[in-house]
Amino acid sequence: MVRVVMLSPPGAGKGTHGRWLTQQTGAAHISSGDLLRAEVARGSRLGRQVAAYTARGNLVPDELIFSILIPAVVAAARDTGGYVLDGFPRTMPQALRAAQVGVELGLTSEAVIYLTAPEEELVTRLLDRAQRDGRVDDTLGVIQHRLAVFTRETAPLVDYYRSRGILIELSTDRPEADVRADLRDWLEARGPMRPVAGGSRAAPGGTSANNDTADR
Ligand code: ADP
Repeated sequence: MVRVVMLSPPGAGKGTHGRWLTQQTGAAHISSGDLLRAEVARGSRLGRQVAAYTARGNLVPDELIFSILIPAVVAAARDTGGYVLDGFPRTMPQALRAAQVGVELGLTSEAVIYLTAPEEELVTRLLDRAQRDGRVDDTLGVIQHRLAVFTRETAPLVDYYRSRGILIELSTDRPEADVRADLRDWLEARGPMRPVAGGSRAAPGGTSANNDTADR
């Protein structure tokens, strides 16, 4: 069963491709953003605390994230044997804690999928999504802030996972089907995803995917 982390700036497609991976593999899709929005929607005291951060595009404090995410990951791994983590970890302390819990519970991530797209494209996609979904944090000012927060807090995780030899880097500035074909290829090659029997898939191409196996 797959155990993967989706790592990407806002708008690069971690939700879309994370859900697809979930459908393909049966592993639980755990979106930190969805869990936080559900807490906000419940109108609990915790939800009001969370909203003060998310509405401005600031990260929710690590301890609060651990208290929500770690039980969800442990339950998902118990129920489905795997997970697709979407939006967590997002800071170095989160990554280190996730690695520690992973080792303790035998739930270490097998791959970290880093999705990229040019910044103008990310902004365009998020503004489009604002029309569709009406997320309060999809306004231009907050989007720009979230992108800056990504660069400051989350981008360092890219080198961290690359140095551990588990980073898969894919451009999503191309058709979704091409990204999926690459995802399938990379995951099959590395073991976590079994080939679909008799399944046909597009030949990989036009990818900026970057296998870092050589780094190991
Ligand atoms: P996006 O990737 O488009 O920013 P998400 O749904 O992943 O959307 O996250 C929405 C918001 O939820 C973030 O801007 C942040 O405020 C909060 N959030 C989500 N995941 C985390 C996390 N792991 N740590 C801290 N805050 C988080």
